[in-house]
Amino acid sequence: MTNLTPPARDRETCDYCDRAQAEADWPLYRAQCVGCAVRALAQGPLFHAAGVEGSIAAPYRKALAQVFGDDWRNGHERVKAEHARIKAARDLTRSASGSDAPKPLSRLNSVTQPGLI
Ligand SMILES: [Zn+2]
Repeated sequence: MTNLTPPARDRETCDYCDRAQAEADWPLYRAQCVGCAVRALAQGPLFHAAGVEGSIAAPYRKALAQVFGDDWRNGHERVKAEHARIKAARDLTRSASGSDAPKPLSRLNSVTQPGLI
């Protein structure tokens, strides 16, 4: 069994966090930054699975504990808030660009499949 020590996080935010405030999908993270860890978790599969399943599974809890220690429940609240912020920022970007959300499913449904008529 591996026993990886998570990076020591010595800062709450960084310049990448600042960029992420301006750009919803800013793709870079600093290992030493709590804000970056929160942002990474908010966009990651473990958080997504928690939302789908409605519960905090062991791997996600472990990931939270690696950032927040015993305070992982409050950490989860921070991740939820960050997820909501990113989602709102994406929606804002979408509406500002004038392109309403594309509807790939309806486009797919309109495709006629040969042999099925
Ligand atoms: Zn950061």
